[in-house]
Amino acid sequence: MAQPFETIQVDTTQVSCDGGGGQLGHPRIYMTIKGDERHVECPYCSRRYELKADALAGAHGH
Ligand SMILES: [Zn+2]
Repeated sequence: MAQPFETIQVDTTQVSCDGGGGQLGHPRIYMTIKGDERHVECPYCSRRYELKADALAGAHGH
């Protein structure tokens, strides 16, 4: 209840969402997580895609 929508951890800034199919499904869309926001929310199903903490490590040269 405290978390009404699913949060999905991703390790890339390019994410796609189709709602997981079934009743809550929707046409597949692609979203881009902006580097300084680190998350994006699907406008269809309100799932939240969060960039993993170490996802940008590679981009920084690690
Ligand atoms: Zn969605």
